[in-house]
This record gives sequence, C-alpha cells and structure tokens, in this order.
Amino acid sequence: MTIYNFAAGPATMPAKVIQQIKADLPSYKNSGMSIMEISHRSALFDNIFQKAQRDMRDLLKIPDNYQVLFFQGGCTLQFTAAPLNLANKYHKIALLDSGHWADRAGDEAKRVGVKVDVLDSTKADHYTRLPILKTLSSDTYDYLHITTNNTIEGTAYTNVPETGTTELVGDMSSNFMGQEYDIKKFGAIMAGAQKNLGIAGLTVVIVRNDLIGKVNNLPSMVDYQLFAQKDSMFNTPPVFAIYAAGLVLQWLKDQGGISEMERRNRQKSGLLYDFLDNSKLFTAPVVKADRSLTNVVFVTGNPEIDQQVVTDAADNGLVNIKGHRSVGGMRASLYNAMPYEGVEKLVDFLTKFENDYRG
Ligand code: PLP
Repeated sequence: MTIYNFAAGPATMPAKVIQQIKADLPSYKNSGMSIMEISHRSALFDNIFQKAQRDMRDLLKIPDNYQVLFFQGGCTLQFTAAPLNLANKYHKIALLDSGHWADRAGDEAKRVGVKVDVLDSTKADHYTRLPILKTLSSDTYDYLHITTNNTIEGTAYTNVPETGTTELVGDMSSNFMGQEYDIKKFGAIMAGAQKNLGIAGLTVVIVRNDLIGKVNNLPSMVDYQLFAQKDSMFNTPPVFAIYAAGLVLQWLKDQGGISEMERRNRQKSGLLYDFLDNSKLFTAPVVKADRSLTNVVFVTGNPEIDQQVVTDAADNGLVNIKGHRSVGGMRASLYNAMPYEGVEKLVDFLTKFENDYRG
C-alpha cells in the first residue's frame, strides 16, 4: 500500500530526493566517504553549499542586497535571534497574533527584553481568520512580525500587510518555497527546513544587508553579521541537512520553480476545500479568503468521529491527519512533495467515510 504522509512537519519529501540520498549515502561522488562523513571545509561540501545558496537565490528571486544565512536551532531560535539583531533602535516590535507560532515569537522576543505590542489578534475567533493591520505608527517599532502561514490553525497571508517605513519580518516556516512572495517586502524572513526544504536541523534566514551589524557582542550563534561574514560557516554547519536542502532545491528547479509549486498547491488544496465545502459531515472552519494552501484544517464537530476518521485514514495509508491538540479535528498538510494523487486518495477516503456514516 502506498503511504501518504500528511504530517505538519517534519514532512514528506520528494521520492526522487530520498532515492538520491540513498544512492549517495555509502560514497558521495565516489569519494569513498559517506555524505555524512565529509568535512564542511572540503571542496565537495563547498560545491554543495554554494549551489544550494545559488539555487535558493534563483528560485526565490532574492535581491543581491539580501544575505542568505544558514543556522541551526530551528525557527524557534530565530524568534530570539531576530529581536536580538533587529530590534536595536526602539527595542519594541509589533506583532499580528495569528496563532500559536506568532504568540511563541512574541514570547521569545519578550524574554530578551524587547517590548511586544500585539496590534491585532484573532484569538477570540479561534484563529479562523487572519488578524488585520489597521494602523501602524511609523518610528515606533523596529519591525512587525507576522507568520505567513499558520501551520496549526490553517491560515495564510496571500498579500502581506503594507507596513510603510516599518520593516516586515516573516516567519515563513510552513510555506517557504511553496507560495510566491516578494522578498523585497520583507526586512527579514526565517524558515525551518523540515517542511518544504528537507530535514530538521537547518534554518534559513534571509535578511537585508542594511539591517545587520548594528549590535555589538551578540552571542555568536545568533549573530547575523557574524554569520554573513563567515558565510554561515562560523562553526560546523548541519552538513547533511544542507546537502538534503540542496537536493530539494534542485528538485524544485526541475519541477518548474515556486510559481509551479504554488499552482500545484492551489490545485491540491482546492480539491480538498471544495470537497469540505460541499460535505454535510466535514467543515473547514477557516474563512475562505484566509485559507492556507499548505495546512488544511477540518472538523466534524464530534471528537469521537474525528478520531475514527484519523484511525480509518491511517488504515488506508493516509497517515498523520490528526489535527493539532489546540485545534482538534483533522489537518492535512499538503507540502510541495505531496502529490495530487495523495489528495485525491484522501478526498476519496473522506467521501466514502461520509457515505458510510450517513448510511
Ligand atoms: N514557525 C512555524 C510557522 C512553524 O510551523 C514551526 C514548527 O512547526 C516553527 C515556527 C518552529 O520551528 P522549529 O521547530 O524549527 O523551531
């Protein structure tokens, strides 16, 4: 039976990439060394590293005045690193509270002494819609933090808020490389790799040159300027994760790039949302305009039936559709590597479940 993995992350990877990893594992490019064993200072790795950075720049159309930095510590560490590096003038940031990860980002900023103003929150609506930026006074905040895709709640910004002279910082972890955004609208972007870019252990930061190097004596491992100077090789980088990301980036190029990914993601999520909107058993609680292309949340309203759906789906090879504990119900994550057939199988299964349930 083919298994389709709908997990929110670490997430399914392209089958071609897994095959390539398998082939490279014993001896990378006939070096007699596994890819897991090669030095980060070797020419072999340097090629991998340079190509990954180049491909990412090409795919996302990253302007030359932005750095592409590779960190460890997950996106969670960037919730600390971003305020440490960027909140250096007003020591105050603005936040749109769109759910769990925005809230976490605010918490971590506060822990390093940065004031956080929540300009809008949709908590009262159980985060079934996105908060809206109504006014943003200039010369007040170092930046506005948003989560472009809310992995748990299933909302996403198609158009990011217009922030005027205030910088925009985006946590793009769960729709990085899955949807087109204009990088120039952001001062900085952060994204963990374990959803659309390979495996856990690598976190990407894209940051505009003029925003870094303004704070002295930051802890080295979170210092954007230091990582820019050292080309992300201040210490041993996550070699295997960067290698895996390089393969995913090549795969993305072969597939037609980010616009093609977005087209496919719209098609996949559209198929599932259409089914849900016509179902009498399942509903998608997120308002239509704010729906994520990546994480599709749906419920029956009855936790026992939800549990049955999750169990029966797994028995049919459709694994990890259980919703996050804070939301309940189901969540199907449709990252780039999820094929259209996987979503067709899921819709067929849900249709049958509903028919059986209704007798
Ligand atoms: N931000 C978003 C939107 C996420 O989905 C996640 C993890 O799922 C994180 C941040 C935290 O990332 P990490 O586990 O890499 O620290």
